[in-house]
Amino acid sequence: MTRIDTLLEEAIRQFTDSGSPRLDAEVLLSHALHKSRSYLRAYAEAEVDAETEQAFNLLVARRAAGEPVAHLTGEREFWSLPLQVSADTLIPRPDTELLVEQALAHIPADANWQIADLGTGSGAIALAIASERPRCRIVACDLSTAALAVAQANAHKLGLNNIEFRHSDWCSAFDEGEKFEMIVSNPPYIRAADPHLEQGDVRFESRLALVAGEDGLDAIRLILDQAKHHLVSGGWLLIEHGYDQGQHLRELFTTAGYAEAKTLQDSGQNDRLSLARLP
Ligand code: GLN
Repeated sequence: MTRIDTLLEEAIRQFTDSGSPRLDAEVLLSHALHKSRSYLRAYAEAEVDAETEQAFNLLVARRAAGEPVAHLTGEREFWSLPLQVSADTLIPRPDTELLVEQALAHIPADANWQIADLGTGSGAIALAIASERPRCRIVACDLSTAALAVAQANAHKLGLNNIEFRHSDWCSAFDEGEKFEMIVSNPPYIRAADPHLEQGDVRFESRLALVAGEDGLDAIRLILDQAKHHLVSGGWLLIEHGYDQGQHLRELFTTAGYAEAKTLQDSGQNDRLSLARLP
């Protein structure tokens, strides 16, 4: 029998490579105990039963070996929605909330638009938009059937019915004349040789969801090309990208025939999102 505060301190000492050791320890212990993080603070001196302690120590060892906390708990919050995640989906990032914010800024509150999310992964973006715009219909696509299963389970758990899931390689599953008022995507955009793929949590995430060729723009070029056949005139395309890809994105948009291209920064002041519309 060990006290909650002692267990946390022991775990924190092992999380030398984590940028958030206390948070990691608290999230893992609350998961093992099926209690909230505020419970851990309120009952810091309470003792944990042997079985829970053993389960927690197993999670601590895996975290100390580098596995992402979200893979160990199987969940991550995005846009205040509790989402199930797996190794087949990207772990939703706070940066991606910028894409949701900007999508909502362009969708009138009472709109009944058709909106597509390309490469939906856990469904984070599609579910956030679906929850905020109940009259819109979202088509959430992914090439990975394993990711689609996770996204579908999330929609079911959240009781969101205005989403359709489709197995699709970008726009390949759309009918010829099928058009959307908005298409959004957080595609893979990391360069194949980027050393940050060998560091931290991304080592354990889906390469399919992260890497896009030598310059990181392979997926984005395909999306820009295909999406213009599936947007209404005046329809919006919003793409998340890397901090150093903004200018390139605006050039690609213009070359592909889109208008009003602009780039926006995330809360860390990095270029993170570019958008444009079809004339
Ligand atoms: N922003 C993510 C990262 O840097 C990458 C997400 C993506 O490729 N879509 O880890």
